Amino acid sequence: MGGGREDAPRQQLPINQFEDQILKTVASNSVMVIIGETGSGKTTQLPQILHRAGYSKKGIIAVTQPRRVAAVSVARRVAYEMGVHLGEEVGYSIRFEDRTSSRTSLKYLTDGCLLRECLLDPKLSQYAIIILDEAHERTLNTDILLGLLKCLLRKGEPHLKLVITSATLDGQRISKFFNACPVLTIPGKLFPVQILYSTERPVSCFESAIETAIEIHVREPPGDILLFMTGQEEIEKAISKLEEKIKDLEEGVCMDAILLPLHASLPPELQARVFDLSPSNCRRIIVATNVAETSLTVDGVVYVIDPGFVKQRHYNPSTGMDSLSVVQISRVQAIQRAGRAGRTCPGKCYRLYPSSVYEHEFLPETIPEIQRTSLAGTVLYLKSLELPDLDVLDFDFLDQPSRELLEDALRQLHIIEGIDNDGNITNLGKQMAELPLEPSLARALLAAEEMGCLSQALTVAGMLSCESIFHHNPSKTRTTKQKIEVKYELPTGNGMGDHVQLLQIYEEWCQSNYSLDWCNNRGLQRRSMKYAKDVRDQLAMIMKDKCESLKYSRVRMDSTVEDFRTLRKSLCKGFANRLAHRMTNHNGYRILCHQSQLVQIHPSVCPLEVDADGLLPEWVLYHELIATSRPYIRKVCVVDGNWIKSVLVELETIDIYRLSGKGSNQGSDQVSSLQCRANLETANCTQSEEGS
Ligand code: ADP
Ligand code: MG
Repeated sequence: MGGGREDAPRQQLPINQFEDQILKTVASNSVMVIIGETGSGKTTQLPQILHRAGYSKKGIIAVTQPRRVAAVSVARRVAYEMGVHLGEEVGYSIRFEDRTSSRTSLKYLTDGCLLRECLLDPKLSQYAIIILDEAHERTLNTDILLGLLKCLLRKGEPHLKLVITSATLDGQRISKFFNACPVLTIPGKLFPVQILYSTERPVSCFESAIETAIEIHVREPPGDILLFMTGQEEIEKAISKLEEKIKDLEEGVCMDAILLPLHASLPPELQARVFDLSPSNCRRIIVATNVAETSLTVDGVVYVIDPGFVKQRHYNPSTGMDSLSVVQISRVQAIQRAGRAGRTCPGKCYRLYPSSVYEHEFLPETIPEIQRTSLAGTVLYLKSLELPDLDVLDFDFLDQPSRELLEDALRQLHIIEGIDNDGNITNLGKQMAELPLEPSLARALLAAEEMGCLSQALTVAGMLSCESIFHHNPSKTRTTKQKIEVKYELPTGNGMGDHVQLLQIYEEWCQSNYSLDWCNNRGLQRRSMKYAKDVRDQLAMIMKDKCESLKYSRVRMDSTVEDFRTLRKSLCKGFANRLAHRMTNHNGYRILCHQSQLVQIHPSVCPLEVDADGLLPEWVLYHELIATSRPYIRKVCVVDGNWIKSVLVELETIDIYRLSGKGSNQGSDQVSSLQCRANLETANCTQSEEGS
């Protein structure tokens, strides 16, 4: 391959003007921080600078990305810039997809992937330099990596260098975390951006955003528009609304418009379209999620519309409830969004909120993920590293998670047998940590292997990994440009819930020979089904490598009611921390593990069997407990009280002090107040097993 593609704008990216200084600092320090405006070339250029300087002769240069979509897109871009084939010198690795080879010297990977690699090779010996990129995103995985790499470097790993890059982070703070390492600030080259506030919060942010976009399109000089929305569904809705409105405009009033969605679940070829420059006399309107805030830089944007919201997950350890809610962005995020408008010339940012909201209601910074997510996976991971001087509860994080979150994680891990009474990792726990799945699903797979229903459990794990296999709105879907009519009913799950239904759907799809028509006729997204299959295949391979004694790896297409039963039993092992018990006289459920939180079955759950009085099954397990308009459990599976007796006993006797490694403290008042209450007084495990 030749010397790569050279183009003037790339040379002019701010970071390339600091090449000498960067190389000097890297050479004489094991850690450094680089702060630079989004679009300054940190992600695409910095690795190439280090590559040119010969670092990749000493080992691979790794660049972590918090988002899968960014890892793929940026690797593709850099391979193009260097004039090499993707997957050779430049590659990427994301969960369930590895596009690297023995020749790869520049590797983009998600922060989660690098964490997995630490398990196999704690010293990361194949790497010369790790670039922790987009550190300002403060994802859970990047935060763990910061702590782990600090540990590793303290022990003195002369082969390894660490560069932390960020668009907004307080560089001095990270520098302090790493023993006052040097910080290099790359001055931005932003053009001025005029900020325009709304006088009040609009009644409908969505409508106001659409109107603003049309206003700009009609009145303002050329330049692309970037509109921030909170998710795929909203983006699709906005695009069709904009299409309609633009069609209604009188001909000749304004230039042509190209509407482009940008979000993580977009197929890669569609994602790539936002990087094509617009044809002249044509305005692009890009409707994007937060991914366009800092991870991906779209050139040509002159107008930004910022409604001021973002979709964010928040986990509450006392109720076990996850909420995926639309929340106000932080001031840091608002500044980043506005900055997208000033990359190529002076721009404008339309904030659809008053300045007083910005000043007084927005948090100064985004809350790091580690302080708002369940830490079961993290704690299991850290324990599985078995670092001699590592106490998980006192792990050196940049920002500490709350004690409550950590204790909740210990409790959950104990219930699914990942850690013993003293908080030590069990053999099962170690095996769970090796699987690229959340602890519950990993535990369920291991149980399924034991019980002889691995094939079915692998399928369910694959199907649960997809965001959604169903078209949002089958009659109105726009992705295929044609209406999708649902001609055939889906299998029902035999009253046993979503997991069984997912299994049945997958098996029927296999029998159809993975047919596209089969999917279309049932309102299913073939792309998601294919993703489920990929994940399933990958997991099957991992399980095969892991379990020499693997008994049941054959792909099954004809599961019986007996298989469904075994599958549900194995799920009970993994989801013992997510059991719900129906109230005596009505169809509300209590969550066992979390202070008897009351919940309802989500309307999306497939029909469950009811008894003569119209009552739902007594025991269910669930995949998600989510607070939307009210607390709901989603992806629900019917189980039998007899399968979970030991869990109920366990729940009564958990000693969180012992689990925290502080020795037993049974009998003290404090302990009992912290114990999980399983609400056994209403629990009745004598109901006979259904379906047998
Ligand atoms: P940073 O990481 O500092 O935000 P990047 O390295 O991502 O900056 O981007 C530097 C420049 O490269 C930007 O001008 C951006 O538009 C361009 N760029 C990045 N990815 C692509 C791509 N896939 N296609 C075309 N241009 C890209
Ligand atoms: Mg970047």
